Amino acid sequence: MIWNPERECAEREQMHALQSRQLSAMIQRMYDHVPFYREQLKERGIEPGDIRSVDQLKLLPFTTKTDLRENYPFGLFTVHQNEVVRIHASSGTTGKPTVVGYTQQDINIWAEVVARSLTMANIHCGDTIQIAYGYGPFTGGLGLHYGAEKVGATVIPISSGNTKKQLQFMTDFNATILACTPSYAAHLGESILKEGISPKDIKLRAGVFGAEPWSNEMRREIEKLLHIKAYDIYGLSEVIGPGVSMECECQCGNHVFEDHFIPEIIHPETLEVLPDGEMGELVFTTVSKEAMPLLRYRTRDLTRLHREKCDCGRTLVRMEKCLGRTDDMLIIRGVNVFPSQVESVLMEMSETSPHYQLIVRRENNLDTLEVLVEIDEKNWSDSIRELEGIRRRIDQNIKSLLGISAIIRLVEPNSIERSEGKAKRIIDHRNKGV
Ligand SMILES: [Zn+2]
Repeated sequence: MIWNPERECAEREQMHALQSRQLSAMIQRMYDHVPFYREQLKERGIEPGDIRSVDQLKLLPFTTKTDLRENYPFGLFTVHQNEVVRIHASSGTTGKPTVVGYTQQDINIWAEVVARSLTMANIHCGDTIQIAYGYGPFTGGLGLHYGAEKVGATVIPISSGNTKKQLQFMTDFNATILACTPSYAAHLGESILKEGISPKDIKLRAGVFGAEPWSNEMRREIEKLLHIKAYDIYGLSEVIGPGVSMECECQCGNHVFEDHFIPEIIHPETLEVLPDGEMGELVFTTVSKEAMPLLRYRTRDLTRLHREKCDCGRTLVRMEKCLGRTDDMLIIRGVNVFPSQVESVLMEMSETSPHYQLIVRRENNLDTLEVLVEIDEKNWSDSIRELEGIRRRIDQNIKSLLGISAIIRLVEPNSIERSEGKAKRIIDHRNKGV
């Protein structure tokens, strides 16, 4: 079933016309109400009436996270405070939080795109969805919530954490769908085994996972642990929250709801727009948002776009699973390394658990990468020779994938800290005098 076939299966020309109309109206609103954008447009000699087609996007200025911080808290709002019905904020590791506001119409659109997303994963009335994303200023919990109610599913708004209670609710309330970060899904899967819960008491059949980059190998690991089909949902609070794009049953990339969020791929340094199929930084223009529309927002996520029609019948452009965030990219001795690449090597091996950490140091002006790999309970053996064999295989596979060698350190089962939200995969000691 397709939630909104008119939009999700629209002809390209129809979509182009809709996007162009919305973009033109959005530029007018920004020009009238947001001094930051008015200045930006004036600097480029652009009058609102000049923009009539989505093909002119490339003439328009970018927005970055720094722009959001500099206009903290409400400087980018295009509506009066009394039209804002909700505010979310993401904590960010440094500096001020990033604030986003929603009008009632924005909340309705958010519920609509999440309803489309859940329908893509064949989730509907009759399903019970356990939402183990955090509820609060983070957009994960409440974002999924309204869309899940819209499709008529029964919602368990348990929020993140408290693993014992998660398992109790999952079994007692017969949850069929789990929504959380992929790293927490893996942790819940392990906890089910550890608690000795019988598989027949778990009714889960699918999971909706996102909020952190995860590899296809991690997907298979989670599917094996929880006996479910695992779907990737993508979103970020600046754009709306979860529901910017979602995988359909074909699982060949996430369909972007481009009638609301127009994607582009740019070269992260030259900023030029790259053609479909090329890897670069994902940029979104949120053409239908009322409270805080963003023009060409740089997500720092690296991916590719594909426009061929999908077997599911949807014509919406697809984005590949994100390779990672440019912020998470490590440069080790001149080589670009993403945690997801290391993850793909580790998850292909049956002896490793889905928990790992990358530790980067600089010693004698040389970068070193250490990979902590947690070994699966049943493979944790006293035989040094067996463990050494596993270590050597990881070492070789990482070297052949990345082209650099890493220090591989095997650690005992359950020794890497578990996360209830986004996992901490990288510890970078460089420039900290360590
Ligand atoms: Zn599809």
